[in-house]
Amino acid sequence: MALLRLKIQVTGIVQGVGFRPFVYRAALQNGLHGYVKNRGDAGVEILLEGQERAVHGFLHDLKEKKPPLAQIHNIVTAKLQGRNEYQEFVITKSSNEAELSGSVIPPDIAICDECLRELRDPKDPRFEYFFITCTNCGPRFTIIEKLPYDRENTTMRQFHMCGFCLSEYRDPLNRRFHAQTVACPECGPHVHLTDAKGRTLELKDPIREAGVLLSEGHAVAIKGYGGFHIALSAIKPEPLARIRNVKHRNQKPFALMARNLKAAKTFAMVSKKQEQLLSSYMHPIVLLNKSRTYNLSELVAPGLHNVGVMLPYTGLHHMLFDHVEDAAFVMTSANPPNQPIVKDNDEALHNLGDIVDYFLIHDRQIAHRCDDSVVRVHRNNTAFIRRSRGYAPAPIKLHRKTKSCVLALGGELNNTSCILNGDKAFISQHIGDVDNVETRAFLENATKHLVRLTNSKIEKVAHDLHPKFITTRLAQDLAEENGWQAIPVQHHYAHAAALMAEHNANDIVSICCDGYGYGSDGEAWGGEILLCTDAAYGFKRLGHLEKQPMIGGDLATFNPIRMAAGILQDRVDLEPWLLSNKKHFPHGEKEVQVALQQLARKENTLYTTSCGRILDAVSAILGVCTERTYEGEPSMKLESTAIGGKDVLNLKPRLESDVLCTGTLVAEIFENRHKYSKTNLAYSAHAYLAQGLAELAIKKASQNHVKAVGFTGGVACNEILALNIRRIVEASGLRFLVHKEVPPGDGGLSFGQAVASGFFHS
Ligand SMILES: [Zn+2]
Ligand SMILES: [Zn+2]
Repeated sequence: MALLRLKIQVTGIVQGVGFRPFVYRAALQNGLHGYVKNRGDAGVEILLEGQERAVHGFLHDLKEKKPPLAQIHNIVTAKLQGRNEYQEFVITKSSNEAELSGSVIPPDIAICDECLRELRDPKDPRFEYFFITCTNCGPRFTIIEKLPYDRENTTMRQFHMCGFCLSEYRDPLNRRFHAQTVACPECGPHVHLTDAKGRTLELKDPIREAGVLLSEGHAVAIKGYGGFHIALSAIKPEPLARIRNVKHRNQKPFALMARNLKAAKTFAMVSKKQEQLLSSYMHPIVLLNKSRTYNLSELVAPGLHNVGVMLPYTGLHHMLFDHVEDAAFVMTSANPPNQPIVKDNDEALHNLGDIVDYFLIHDRQIAHRCDDSVVRVHRNNTAFIRRSRGYAPAPIKLHRKTKSCVLALGGELNNTSCILNGDKAFISQHIGDVDNVETRAFLENATKHLVRLTNSKIEKVAHDLHPKFITTRLAQDLAEENGWQAIPVQHHYAHAAALMAEHNANDIVSICCDGYGYGSDGEAWGGEILLCTDAAYGFKRLGHLEKQPMIGGDLATFNPIRMAAGILQDRVDLEPWLLSNKKHFPHGEKEVQVALQQLARKENTLYTTSCGRILDAVSAILGVCTERTYEGEPSMKLESTAIGGKDVLNLKPRLESDVLCTGTLVAEIFENRHKYSKTNLAYSAHAYLAQGLAELAIKKASQNHVKAVGFTGGVACNEILALNIRRIVEASGLRFLVHKEVPPGDGGLSFGQAVASGFFHS
């Protein structure tokens, strides 16, 4: 009988998912000796001794029976010389060895069904324990400080396991065998409720008390896995109005946490696909259409047809609802304006003490902040608005390997960073708008952590073409410090490259629509038709939307009436309309007069081909949104207004060579604004843009013998546009590509920059 000694290294997501206990059991079942251990490169090392047949049986089990959350990317085996020396199979102490790269620890995982059952079982030692977890659930990414993933390398370090938890931790037959987050009321984190000043209130049941306070109309800051939420009643207008007022967030939609799926269905429509997403182990916020029976406050998501809903993802969240009747609570990320989400207790007291009435705080530190993810469903396609908790840092598997290891730092708004390593891309959690020192620091820290977690040896750093972005300067600094090559990537090309990499497409014509991206000519782009080919780095701009003036430059972004005025200037008598809208100008009539002068003399005017700005202008003309208080507001509200509308204008798209005219559209909307309903006019604007963009792209695809048309950029989150463009493109016989795993908006930009630099840049 042949005896074998085999060393096996497994890479992938194999730490923090019950992989070693699984290996242990598989070795025992196959009658093998040796060891298994975690390594400092997030991989797992196994030594097997035994009969050759048993070893083959084990390797089969390794691939076929792995734990549900584990992902195996690669298995490297090496036969060793020497005699068998192990008498048994053991889980040994982790090592710091880090030789392979590309493994990573898993994202945070929502509470599993078994833990939820134990939470509700009076006989269970973890009955009502708010942080009950096991090998299949609980925080991972947000508690880890360094590799390997062992308790002492996480913020669970300070909680010493009691005898009971330790006995489960050491029992190979237990679900918590080697689960690093195992804890109970005796030994784990504690939770307490404090007043706004941080003084602890002596309560037996602080979590349910917090739920009652919410229901009564108080604001409570709640510490979760990746940061603080501000929680509120979703039916009482007063606390909502008060929080909107102090947070200077008049209009921005707040997310909801529903008690359960059934409760969500009392106020929103939930499709099968949306149900799956809501209940998946990622538990993202899913945008759901408000139903006819929507009975929550209009202040939750003002002016929008949909509302972001998630389900409870920790024991604590479930318990909040126990003593109240509420179907849902508002649960919005707690972050000061333009700052990252608050994660530390002191930081919370300091920043939120004037805003909330109470704090529900626990004593475990958050190692890395992580906002909730937000997704939207277009029929059956998932469109990421934000890819963060539950997804980051799990890699996106690609169809090919990069020639060099690339770090990409993204753009400016809704930023993420990304590492491209081999055939995997690791996108960071949501960082936010990198326009100040705090978010820059967050970006730097999150990126360094991701480099360490994946054991990546960076060779190139990719950044936006915009010379003045903070991320551009950071990339240049890093390149100089580390001797990396810095590679600028044009904004819309990055979006298109992301699409190509996701679909393994070689040549595409891409419709790239968003608010703003720095063009190759230095101008403001945002409604582009690009030809992207695999053959060489780069792209060709084949067409775009008509260039339109932005009166007062960037002011036109915040005041969409200015945008409309610029487009309408030579077509209609503007003065009476502007004067009738003077209350929407911060300085009233005086500002209107100045704007009219600027119009006449064409001074202080930039030009843009942005699709977002056209939607803004239409939104302003229809009176849907005359002041932008958050990014995308005018166009999001325009889409909400258009739901259920018809194309009453029936305009044929006007193409002047390779430019889609938008001036005629905006003028027609203006002329007909009293003749048709807002809904039908809003829909007509969508129909015109969809048809025009699709026709232009189809024409260009045919001229260049390309078989696929893509749609990307923040505007691709718009369902009416996405579905209409799809219908027209597919009717022409071409393939239509949209994003599946990466956000179409700027959260996906770093991924696009990385693949453009790694795959297409020679
Ligand atoms: Zn569990
Ligand atoms: Zn315990």
